[in-house]
Amino acid sequence: MRFEIITIFPAFFAGIFEHGIVRRAQAEGLVGIGLHDLRTFTHDRHRTVDDRPFGGGEGMVLKAEPLAEALGALGIGNKSAHPSFLPNSLSPTLAPEMRRKDGAPTSEAGTRVILLSAQGRPFTQAVARDLAKMERVVLICGRYEGVDERINELYCDMELSIGDYVLSGGELAAAVVVDTVMRLVPGVLGNEASGEFESFGVADAEITTDEEGVPRSQHGSGGLLDYPHYTRPAEFGGLRAPEVLMNGDHLQIRKWRREQQLRKTLKNRPDLLEGASLSEEDRRILDAIRNHGE
Ligand code: SAM
Repeated sequence: MRFEIITIFPAFFAGIFEHGIVRRAQAEGLVGIGLHDLRTFTHDRHRTVDDRPFGGGEGMVLKAEPLAEALGALGIGNKSAHPSFLPNSLSPTLAPEMRRKDGAPTSEAGTRVILLSAQGRPFTQAVARDLAKMERVVLICGRYEGVDERINELYCDMELSIGDYVLSGGELAAAVVVDTVMRLVPGVLGNEASGEFESFGVADAEITTDEEGVPRSQHGSGGLLDYPHYTRPAEFGGLRAPEVLMNGDHLQIRKWRREQQLRKTLKNRPDLLEGASLSEEDRRILDAIRNHGE
């Protein structure tokens, strides 16, 4: 799989992809990352990438032409060249194979072109799982007030936001997307299952239970948050790690971990419980926590 990042600050990424799993995935040839300096695709003496907004107002806007050229260099064409293209807002009648969910045409199979934007749809683990199936993900990093909207209309498959806050540029967001998607590419994580059984794992990944109704997996998921982790020393800062984790009784450990997942999710992200795979036992535990706060 390849990520192509279009940015005015390629040096921003120095170091960011040179550690841990991300570095190893590249070294093993599982993933490649291309950095593309937007200024390379300008033709004036000042290498201008931005201009004042039509209609007035604060700030500058990234110009369409250099971005279009950068995308062209990656073999990504302007969708208006397709006979059935209409701008998003006017396009209910595209041929189905050319239509993405919101009605705009898609890029070539295996490629997704993404504009990082605070106005985008939320980037979630589910979006990351979809992107991990692609051969190529192209990430456009905005700056200033944003990117000329025609780049979104003509070239992008989706706008993605990494959260409800405003960053000063798309670079951090691109790094977040690369890191999250890359670890879901088959072979990148040592244990294939570990991506599935972390926080936000697919809701149906692991509802299999043993004869006593205890989930088989040691890990989180089922759409819940992960459980808390402990390591040596057994005592730290006056707090002892939970005894149950040290007694070697794996049935008890699995039960404890499941309960902790439920507690954490209820406390920090109760919204996730709606979409989670919950057994009767899970629901009973949740009721007990809600009723008694225990
Ligand atoms: N005027 C824009 C708005 O209010 O939505 C904010 C522009 S922001 C200062 C500059 C760039 O940072 C954006 O074009 C986008 O690429 C990136 N950015 C900012 N917040 C983001 C977020 N939450 N997720 C993804 N990218 C973001």
